[in-house]
Amino acid sequence: MKYFAGIDIGSTAIKISIVDENKNLIGSKISASGSMFYKYAQETLDALINELELNNNDIAYIVATGYGRKLYKEADENISEITANAIGARAAASDFGEIKTIINIGGQDSKAISLDNEGNVVNFAMNDRCAAGTGKFLDVVALKLEMDVNMLGEHHFRSKGTPLSVSSTCAVFAESEIIGLLGNDHSIEDIVCGVHYSIAKRIVKLVKRVGIKGDIYFDGGPALNSGLVNAIENELGQRIFVPKHPQITTSFGAAIMGVDSYNYENS
Ligand code: ADP
Repeated sequence: MKYFAGIDIGSTAIKISIVDENKNLIGSKISASGSMFYKYAQETLDALINELELNNNDIAYIVATGYGRKLYKEADENISEITANAIGARAAASDFGEIKTIINIGGQDSKAISLDNEGNVVNFAMNDRCAAGTGKFLDVVALKLEMDVNMLGEHHFRSKGTPLSVSSTCAVFAESEIIGLLGNDHSIEDIVCGVHYSIAKRIVKLVKRVGIKGDIYFDGGPALNSGLVNAIENELGQRIFVPKHPQITTSFGAAIMGVDSYNYENS
């Protein structure tokens, strides 16, 4: 059996997925991108190969994607994260329905991608100018409120009443706005919920730029935040599909692409 690796070197995290010849996901690993993209990507790949009890020779083809993809010279191919995301989303949601709209929130950007019936990318919109509406924004908020990002969802659902308005779109100003809200005796739960709705409003505007159609898929690390998922669904007025492992969708798509490229090159 041959295996195929997809390496997504993102601004915040490196995600690696390995699939078999039948495009089944057999393992994945996530590590921090840090400052040495190449070194950490290689270490993460070696660790995953080891965990799966494979050898380097078992990996027939490697596809790199994400911000740092060009730094991973050992890759057989590199592709844009938008293409990889689309391929991964369609595969991960194949039992759910026909995904035609993708929301991806990463560490430093957010994207809305529109697909046609065959899963080809027909349009996309991206916010990568500032941290507003990104994982970084949530990281800053969590740090200020002295909690881990994985606790934001739990706090969100403890908030009652109309969500608090958090108007700052810049992570730096949001921090001072949060200090002001804490000073006015607003609860941490209400602040977290307000932050989620402020991000959700921005994301919905972004999605509307590409047009909402078909089933909607939400991925990237912040899709692990159930409170943010809830706010986006309420702002959209529609359910969204979140895969079990939302952070690895793009690396999964890159690995699947590797199977096709390898078969094409060896046909
Ligand atoms: P990138 O591809 O740009 O590196 P990711 O899709 O890996 O970004 O997302 C990174 C972001 O995911 C982090 O900034 C953090 O806010 C968020 N995140 C990671 N793990 C969790 C978690 N368990 N719960 C909530 N948010 C998370």
